[in-house]
Amino acid sequence: MNYRHVFHAGNFADVFKHALLVRMLLYLNRKETPWRVIDTHAGEGAYDLARAEVDRTGEWRDGIGRLVGLDRASEAGVLLAPYLDIVGACDADGRPQVYPGSPAIARELARRGDRLVFCEKNPEDFAALKARFARDRRVKTLDLDGWTALGAFVPPPERRGLVLVDPPYEARDEFARLAKTFAAAHAKWSTGVYALWYPVKDRRDAEGLWNAVRANGAKSALRLELAVAPDADGGLVRTGLIVVNPPFVLEQEARVLLPALMRLLERGAGAGAHLVEAFGA
Ligand code: SAM
Repeated sequence: MNYRHVFHAGNFADVFKHALLVRMLLYLNRKETPWRVIDTHAGEGAYDLARAEVDRTGEWRDGIGRLVGLDRASEAGVLLAPYLDIVGACDADGRPQVYPGSPAIARELARRGDRLVFCEKNPEDFAALKARFARDRRVKTLDLDGWTALGAFVPPPERRGLVLVDPPYEARDEFARLAKTFAAAHAKWSTGVYALWYPVKDRRDAEGLWNAVRANGAKSALRLELAVAPDADGGLVRTGLIVVNPPFVLEQEARVLLPALMRLLERGAGAGAHLVEAFGA
């Protein structure tokens, strides 16, 4: 297990994933009934961008650092405002002091009755995660295998909520594992919102996951992808999120957000692309 998210914190894939996560949680907050977020691969929770590891890659510059160019009064600017408020103030280069990971974002939007479960397997990352949330009684941090948690913790007692599955994709079989573990979880809890993040290095993997979600009984799902450069550029340039049982406003919001994020994050005019595909209600 070599992957450390600190090297990638605030990159274009984080911006894409976290901006959408905020929109989904805001939707859940429209009803007073409590929800639970289960983050199966949680990372450290938040990342101090002054750390030496961050400077080794500087990925935030082509991610959150590009959002200084956002027109806050535009339709996308209004949709992104709650995410940017959580990120907080940035310096003149567009660098926030601390970039919030998915746990910090979920905690920020959680109300008194909501509950949060964060799993992380890397011992160093887990220690940071545990320390960060130790005083919040709504949060349970577990150094548990996220794949086990995905099957074990659904349905949550609240019967409302969101499962974020955000593995590092270090192992070649991680797409197949995600499809299989999601199917088992969905069989136990078919009404939850599942957000399945993936990198697109080989488009057949993304296509296979999408087809598997459909074949495994999901009644409605949304597939969102954002590319910042043509595939041939090497490295990670395309990322996706499959949302099962998406909040009904998410497709419409994604149709505003994705083109705007593409224009802000693309590496050269016309280099980016985006995709919004849906099935079901
Ligand atoms: N969800 C986080 C966010 O958005 O801020 C980022 C998570 S990062 C992409 C993936 C994390 O999964 C890494 O911190 C890694 O250590 C952890 N991880 C890897 N294998 C795991 C496993 N089997 N169970 C739980 N966590 C695991």
